[in-house]
Formats: sequence, structure tokens, C-alpha cells
Amino acid sequence: MLTDSYRHKGLRKKLVDELKHMGISDQRVLDAINAVPRHYFLTSAFLEFAYDNKAFQIGEGQTISHPYTVAIQSQLLSVEPGMKVLEIGTGSGFQTAVLCELGAKVYSIERQKLLHENSKKLLAKMGYKTYLSYGDGYKGLPSFAPFDRVIITCAIPKVPEDLLMQLKPGGILVMPFGEGEVQRMMVVKELPDGTFESELHGEFSFVPMLEKRNSGTFNQ
Ligand code: SAH
Repeated sequence: MLTDSYRHKGLRKKLVDELKHMGISDQRVLDAINAVPRHYFLTSAFLEFAYDNKAFQIGEGQTISHPYTVAIQSQLLSVEPGMKVLEIGTGSGFQTAVLCELGAKVYSIERQKLLHENSKKLLAKMGYKTYLSYGDGYKGLPSFAPFDRVIITCAIPKVPEDLLMQLKPGGILVMPFGEGEVQRMMVVKELPDGTFESELHGEFSFVPMLEKRNSGTFNQ
């Protein structure tokens, strides 16, 4: 059973205030995070800490992103209600839920079968209507393209040509870009003439983006 108690709501409000102090200024993003019970996305071992500003293990060697990271990526993405958003790395589904709260129609790809199945069940139970795909995010979802926005939630070492191709003119792609342990948050904008412009933001540390689907539990 999913229960969102007053205590959880209070802790969430505190987290949102903290995010505001850390520089998140888009009120719609703060409201969206306030609307999503993050503790539903964590295993019971971490429930007590669901509203600490930390990343946590979600199984299969993967993590649910730090709330600040979800907030900054959502802010940089500038989502407007009704937009089609492609997310790479569904993971726990928390970022997916935040995008839904922002009014997006979310398509999300996850390469780990178990995580895909768990997030699919949870998001449906929470009443979110999403299109979740088990596959390799590098390929995107050509049959549903083009997208207004693309968000990558794992560290990407190379320019994702296929994903850029699936972006609408005027669209925005946000990704943690870099090969090492630390990546720079990169915002790529497709200009109306089809050329691209990019800018770099702060440093982050994400789990790596890996190619191909993985149905096993231990091997990557
Ligand atoms: N947005 C998630 C963050 C999860 S961490 C959340 O809020 O919980 C990044 C996720 O990207 C992991 O679940 C990992 O399995 C997934 N991933 C890594 N490489 C991928 C790829 N090529 N395609 C799709 N998902 C990938």
C-alpha cells in the first residue's frame, strides 16, 4: 500500500525549501517535486531517508538521482504542459513522475529489465500515464519522434546522434556529458534552422550510460 503521511509531506516541504536555497528558482519544478512522494520510489531500507538530498541504490547497481539533480535537470529542460519528452534511464521512475507533474507526455527508456518492470508497475499505480520502453536509450524511440525535449539521466560519453535527430527544431536536450567519474551538465538547443547550440552547466556524477538491453541481474 502506498501511504503519504503528514510526516512525509512535511519532510518533502523541507526538501523543497532546501532546493530553493540551493538555487532552484522555477516554481513549477519546486511544485512538481513537492507533488511526488519520493519515498514510494525507494526500497523500505531507505524510507526514513527519502527526503534527504541524497542519491540511493535502487537495485541492479543503479541509483535514484539526488533531488537537486532531478530539480536542476527539470529546470534546464524548460518543460511546458503538453510537450512530448523522451527520458533515457527510467531507473526508479522518480524523474519520470516529476516530468508528468510538469504536464509532459513522457516516453522513457530503461535498459535494465527489472527496473523497467518495477517503475512501470509503480507509475501506473500512482496514476501516471506514461510510455515506458525496455530498450537501449542510445537508439531513442524513432517511431514516436520527434520530441520537444530529451533528458538523459545517466552519464553519456559521446554525442547521441540518434537522439539529436529525434529532437524537434527549437527543442532542448539535457545530458550529463563526459567520460570520467565527473560529467558536465550540457544543454543542447536545436535552432529553427536545424543547427545546434550548446552550453555547459555544473559538475555532476551519474552512473554510466551503457549500450544494449540487459535482462540479467548481475552483469552490466
Ligand atoms: N531517472 C532515474 C535515474 C536512474 S540512474 C531516477 O530518477 O531514478 C540512470 C538509469 O539509466 C539506470 O537505471 C540505468 O540502468 C539506465 N541506463 C543506463 N544506460 C542506459 C541506456 N543505454 N538506455 C536506457 N537506460 C540506461
